[in-house]
Amino acid sequence: MASALEQLFLPAECLLCHALLPSADPDRIVCAVCRARWRAVRPPWCERCGQPEPHFGPCRLCASWPDTLGRVRSAVWLDAAARPAVHALKYGALPRIADDLAAGMHALRPATDGTSAAVLVPIPLAPKRLRERGYNQSAMLAAALARRWHMSVAGDLLIRVRETPTQTALTPETRLANVAGAFGLRIDDCGLRIGSQPIKSAIRHPQFPLILVDDVFTTGATLAEAARVLEQAGAARICGVTFARAVIPDFQ
Ligand SMILES: [Zn+2]
Ligand SMILES: [Zn+2]
Repeated sequence: MASALEQLFLPAECLLCHALLPSADPDRIVCAVCRARWRAVRPPWCERCGQPEPHFGPCRLCASWPDTLGRVRSAVWLDAAARPAVHALKYGALPRIADDLAAGMHALRPATDGTSAAVLVPIPLAPKRLRERGYNQSAMLAAALARRWHMSVAGDLLIRVRETPTQTALTPETRLANVAGAFGLRIDDCGLRIGSQPIKSAIRHPQFPLILVDDVFTTGATLAEAARVLEQAGAARICGVTFARAVIPDFQ
C-alpha cells in the first residue's frame, strides 16, 4: 500500500541524480549510473570481518567477537556515492530503496546447500526510534534480501531492550561497551519455525545459520553484541551482511 502510493506520487526518476528511470524496472529508484558509482568493498580483507587486511599482526576489529560469529561482509564503502542512499533508507522515509540496496548486496549471499536454510535476522531499532521512523530500516533491507535470496526473515527474534547513545566514539572497544546489554531475544514466544522445528531448537544446528542484517557496519560492535545474545541462546552459526561499511579513520 505505502509502496503503491509512493509510486503514484513520485516521478519515475532516480532518487539520487534525478535522471529518468527506465520503466522496465518499477522496483528500482536508483539508476544504474548511480549504482555503478557505489564502490565495492574488495579483498584483501580479514577473512572473518571483511575489513581491509591490517598491515601488521592479527585483525583487531574482530578479535573480541563471540566465537559463533563468522564471516561478516559489506557491499560498498560508505562514501559520497553511497551515503545518500543509506540516508534515504534511514531518514528519508523511503523504505522502497531497500530493494536497490539489496540488489547491490547480491554478491554477499552466504553459500547454502540443499540441506541448509539460512534465516535473516535484522538488527532491531529501539521502540522509540521505531515509532519516530515508522519502520526499521534493517528489517526493510532483510525483507528485500529475503525476496532475492529466497530465505525467511526472523523479524521478531531480536529486540532492543536498551536505547544506546549515538555512537560517536570510534574505537572498537568503546563501541562494544556502548552496545553491551542492548539486545534481548523473543525466542520462546516469537512463534518462528525453521522447517518443522521451532527456531529455538533449529538454531542449535549449523545447517540453520542466522544472517544478521544491518544497513551500515562501522566497527561491527552492534553485530557482535547481537551475535553474543544469539550465541547464549544456543545459536551454532552466525554471519552478517551490511549494505555499507564506514571508513574508520586511522584504523589498522
Ligand atoms: Zn542516478
Ligand atoms: Zn577481522
